[in-house]
Amino acid sequence: MSLFTPNLMLNNVTDIDLDFLESKGIKGIILDVDNTLTMHNSQEVHKIVLEWLQKMKDNSIKLIIVSNNYEERIKPFADKIGLDYISFGCKPLTKGMTQAVKKMGLKKEQVAIVGDQIYTDILGGNLKGLYTILVVPFELENTTFFKIKRRLEKLHINKYNRINRK
Ligand SMILES: [Mg+2]
Repeated sequence: MSLFTPNLMLNNVTDIDLDFLESKGIKGIILDVDNTLTMHNSQEVHKIVLEWLQKMKDNSIKLIIVSNNYEERIKPFADKIGLDYISFGCKPLTKGMTQAVKKMGLKKEQVAIVGDQIYTDILGGNLKGLYTILVVPFELENTTFFKIKRRLEKLHINKYNRINRK
């Protein structure tokens, strides 16, 4: 499978359920922040996301944030939802993810990464050998750069859909 193809695509992080994690032997999840847990640069958290986080914690699923965004943006958010975090994670480079897997005390085969971007979250996760989950971003960015990137990502998403239709 291509490094740009996620193992799974979901609408929302909250669609990840415990039975699924158990079936894959996943005991920890690396979480992206912007457009995965909340809107870009927002400190707000939806009730449904908070409830999902709590359910994971209650069932001993380890959670950690790895974001490419800066400390000043990520720390208050991580504190608010009570999670450990790695900021300036440099995804798709695997360094931040390696640290995260180590912090969770798990093997990489037991870890999933969830994020909204193919070229950072999914590519990085696949390079690291994690189970990769792509979610639909909360909001689509308006800049030209993001528009081009989203269009490129669509190619990979179409490929995923083709593979999984069979
Ligand atoms: Mg993101």
